[in-house]
Amino acid sequence: MAIIIKTREEIALLREAGRINALALEAMRRAVHPGVTTAELDSIAEDVLRSHGAVPAFLGYPNPSPRRSARPYPATITASVNDELVHGIPSRRRVLVEGDIISLDCGCIYQGFVGDAAFTIGVGHISEQAERLLRVTEEALYKAIEASRVGNRLGDVSAAIQAHAERHGYNVVREYTGHGVGREMHEDPQIPNWGKRGHGIHLRAGMTYALEPMIMIGQPEVYVKRDTWTVTTKDHSLCAHFEHTIAVSDGEPEILTLS
Ligand code: MG
Ligand code: MG
Repeated sequence: MAIIIKTREEIALLREAGRINALALEAMRRAVHPGVTTAELDSIAEDVLRSHGAVPAFLGYPNPSPRRSARPYPATITASVNDELVHGIPSRRRVLVEGDIISLDCGCIYQGFVGDAAFTIGVGHISEQAERLLRVTEEALYKAIEASRVGNRLGDVSAAIQAHAERHGYNVVREYTGHGVGREMHEDPQIPNWGKRGHGIHLRAGMTYALEPMIMIGQPEVYVKRDTWTVTTKDHSLCAHFEHTIAVSDGEPEILTLS
């Protein structure tokens, strides 16, 4: 597959999809507190998307797992708690407790275009260690956005994430990446959270992609739980995930997933 350069009209639709998606994420942000279940957060997000004429993009997404029990994704959001990195399935049994951290990832389709963004947030009071992980992971996202300029290469973006994580003694995941976003949720190119400055494709105006640092305090190895979706750190260390979809332009990079 080739990288699809978007027109101004297409970017306007991506911006609208991203805006609706951001409203769903904000509604969940307000609802995160001890005692809430991840299933409740899921239905909050689904209501916001549908009330704005968008549909969930994750629901029914094909499962890449080769396991026989693999099934399409069953929900609107992914809700990944503590040592869960990404793709946690919302559940009525998963009750958030004070001190948890939770990554909430939401995707929608609006008029044929995709919005995709995520953040990680503490539940009530969280440890200083967790606060620092969240701060550094979000900073890594903004470093990657900042590097998303014509004249740079994809490796500059990836390296910005990796360098910021490792500077703080953290690791980045190897198996999961950012990705192009357009009519499809996952387009080319893949954008690893690790890479070398000065390598990779040259960035061009009209590229639109999701940047998503996934950073852990411990070792970078992860595994997929028996539910065939939830990605968890092997050593069960805390991890965090922030994501925005952005457009490369001739000027400043534009975040498309703001409310
Ligand atoms: Mg996402
Ligand atoms: Mg994504």
